[in-house]
Amino acid sequence: MTKGDFSSLVSSIQAVASPFRQYLNDLHDKYQGAMDGTVADYIPELALADPNWFGICVVTQAGQMFEVGDCDQLFTIQSISKAFVYGLALEDHGRDYVNSKVSVEPTGEAFNAIVLDEVTNRPYNPMVNAGAIATADLIKGDSATERLKRMLAMFKRYTGRDVDVNVPVFLSEKSTGFRNRAIAYLMLNFGMVTDRVDETLDLYFQQCSIMVNAKDLAMMAATLANGGVNPVTGERALDEHYVQDVISVMLTCGMYDYSGEWVYRVGLPAKSGVGGGITALAPGKLGIGTFSPPLDAKGNSYRGIQVCSDLSRDFGLHLFNVAEAEYKLDDWLTGNGADSW
Ligand code: GLN
Repeated sequence: MTKGDFSSLVSSIQAVASPFRQYLNDLHDKYQGAMDGTVADYIPELALADPNWFGICVVTQAGQMFEVGDCDQLFTIQSISKAFVYGLALEDHGRDYVNSKVSVEPTGEAFNAIVLDEVTNRPYNPMVNAGAIATADLIKGDSATERLKRMLAMFKRYTGRDVDVNVPVFLSEKSTGFRNRAIAYLMLNFGMVTDRVDETLDLYFQQCSIMVNAKDLAMMAATLANGGVNPVTGERALDEHYVQDVISVMLTCGMYDYSGEWVYRVGLPAKSGVGGGITALAPGKLGIGTFSPPLDAKGNSYRGIQVCSDLSRDFGLHLFNVAEAEYKLDDWLTGNGADSW
């Protein structure tokens, strides 16, 4: 046996032996057979998703990664993009101006509700479509291409790799997005968005159509958990002053009209998308990325919710948890069992 063979044998034994890795394998086994939920089918590209796809990835604040299942499978980020674009809008304009265009109040209504604040005419928050379109409008750039480029560069800082728009999905979103168009024009009527409204709608449809995988989602969450700095590349993705803004809105509004119950049960800032992804974080500890296309009635990934609930409960990750956790994260992470990038 050569030295190289020996060290790869050692690391594969360590990989199997890592208690946290084993925990995630068991979690994956536990929910792989759950057949609840239905795959989004409002555009043909999403309906093609395999309901069995299921990936779980965790990235720690120190940049260790653990993955199980379909973590390389690419899918569209959809609404998960909204949280990160909100961060870019804050960097572009500062808190006061952004707040004058988009509120931070949960709606209790579906993500595509056509509803604005009756007094201020602002959309309720950046995680519902109205607020996300108003947020996309705030992204600076001299041209449509420039604005998209700035968004893609921002996502790259979080994921640590180049990301791109899935053009067929974008074109489908654009050609069927009448409701989003109605919302945007209503906001134009109230002066909540500028008159480059068609360009902004394209930008919104493009941001929803960016391709990511579960590893990217875990990395993005870990970057927020790490104060806005990607724990692997060391690059800052978001100005430290705005990290708490983004995380707060994820906590109160990130899971559509399930947000209240989510905070109660899971207690982690998170964002879901109809592509089947969920990104969730335990600030100062880790980021979670899950991918499983079947969605529950509110549009959240069914298996993703179960996985995050179990992780939160078992490791005491709930933000307001003051009881002793069943498993101590630090004990479970010891051993050099992380996957390599
Ligand atoms: N593209 C979808 C829309 O705007 C995104 C929805 C989502 O993930 N909730 O309707």
